[in-house]
Amino acid sequence: MGLDGGTIISRSDVIRGQSWRVNQADSSSRSTRGGQIGDGYVAPREAASAEDLVVAKWSSCSLTGQALREPIAACHLGRLYNRESVLEFLLAKNDLFLDESSEWRYDNQKQFAEDFGHLKSAKSIFEVQLLREPLRNDDEAARSRDNLPWVCPITHVSPSLRHPFAALASCGHVFAKKALLEVTDPCCPSCGKAYAPNDVVPINGSLEEVKLLKERLQQYRKKRRRTVEAKAAEALESSGLPAKPPKLLKEQ
Ligand SMILES: [Zn+2]
Repeated sequence: MGLDGGTIISRSDVIRGQSWRVNQADSSSRSTRGGQIGDGYVAPREAASAEDLVVAKWSSCSLTGQALREPIAACHLGRLYNRESVLEFLLAKNDLFLDESSEWRYDNQKQFAEDFGHLKSAKSIFEVQLLREPLRNDDEAARSRDNLPWVCPITHVSPSLRHPFAALASCGHVFAKKALLEVTDPCCPSCGKAYAPNDVVPINGSLEEVKLLKERLQQYRKKRRRTVEAKAAEALESSGLPAKPPKLLKEQ
């Protein structure tokens, strides 16, 4: 994969992750990965289907493009990440680099500051508990490489355009949205932990859903900032200290 050297990547490089068809179909990439077999061979370009993009997003870390591996985290906009990659990114934001490749990766990621600006601290993500479908036999093992291993614990379907999924930020369990809508009790069907409507985060949702999640996140952060400021003002008032330090008298 790129990102560990001096490769300049585009946003589409990041999201396409492991999907070969997405890789083949994307002619806008500036990286040189994949595609060419011989001098006279021109790979046929087929349009990346929306389903390919879903598979790519569910297979790769949104930040690095690397294959997803546990522990997997999600942000409050519904993107999936390798948890350690986000922690490495947060350290790099504070000029702390684990090694040289970490510095290169951060240089690339900085180009997408707008996409990752919402990752401000470890609280910006939550670990997701994705259920893997156990491989039942050889036929299962020989499934298409584009099939996703994750399944809903209730309906046993895999995430796809037809079956969008959502996570509960309160506990990290992930379900098909349809299954979650049928749950009348506001408790996680897997662990029983209570959740609020705002804890439901569509994973790799539609543009409209991401827009709503962005608004929700902004409102939450604004509210939290107001609460912190109010508490600080209250603490200052009860301490008896003046709100502003007195001006020092000039020495005569
Ligand atoms: Zn749960």
